Amino acid sequence: MRRVLILGGTAEARALAAELHGRCHVVSSLAGRVTNPRLPVGEVREGGFGGPAGLAAWLAAERIDAMVDATHPFAVRMSASAAEASGVSGVPLLALRRPGWREGPGDAWERTGSLRAVADLLGHGDRVFLTTGRRSLPVFAGLPGVWLLARSVDPPEPPVPGNVRVLLDRGPYTLEGELALIREHRLDVLVTKDSGGSMTTAKLDAARELGLRVIMVDRPPPPAGVRLVDTVAEAAAWAQG
Ligand code: NAP
Repeated sequence: MRRVLILGGTAEARALAAELHGRCHVVSSLAGRVTNPRLPVGEVREGGFGGPAGLAAWLAAERIDAMVDATHPFAVRMSASAAEASGVSGVPLLALRRPGWREGPGDAWERTGSLRAVADLLGHGDRVFLTTGRRSLPVFAGLPGVWLLARSVDPPEPPVPGNVRVLLDRGPYTLEGELALIREHRLDVLVTKDSGGSMTTAKLDAARELGLRVIMVDRPPPPAGVRLVDTVAEAAAWAQG
């Protein structure tokens, strides 16, 4: 049986593992940072490989025939490491990236290239719904007059900045839930990464409905030279050779 490594941590990676289950020997890899992660079907390994050289050695030891990078669009280091390890080991690599979000009628998103640039766009009196992950909090610590509700799956490393309230939760979210949250905390700015996918789009619908300002952090470019697909079906067809 063909041996396929899926670099995961996303809903698409789990869907791909399910699609390939029984057709290939699939190993799904998770970073191992989220407590109690959603697990794909089949074999799972957790934790970093030790950079590109570590991954290349692991691919050889496990006799992997093909590798799909189905990590989150913002998991830059893992994607770069996969590209480099593929070059070193000769194991073919495909990147599966769900499409980014698109503005609909009534939207006027402000796009930025980095979290640091987001901080520069915030000002006194802003009440911010921050959904960019627990590791982004230090960027917003102590911004004068800015209050943030930061939603994340796991708690951030302490100390939590004084202007931040943390809400632990995990999608999928509903429009009703997002509307209620925005109203309860009187939020007027939504800050999000362009993650794409359907699990967390309700916040964008709610922001549109309630007229929130939306600041969208653009995706980093994928590693050069890696073939990219945006559906699980395409990745499954490729992985089967
Ligand atoms: P990252 O910064 O690109 O990766 C940092 C290091 O973590 C990598 O160099 C690698 O360590 C290890 N790593 C990352 N993903 C791994 C995987 N699937 N399997 C084994 N090791 C992995 O990644 P990140 O942004 O921290 O994201 C970590 C994981 O969470 C990813 O799997 C991603 O799909 C998922 N995720 C990320 C986000 C996000 O916004 N970034 C959102 C949702 C889910 P070594 O160099 O030692 O191999």
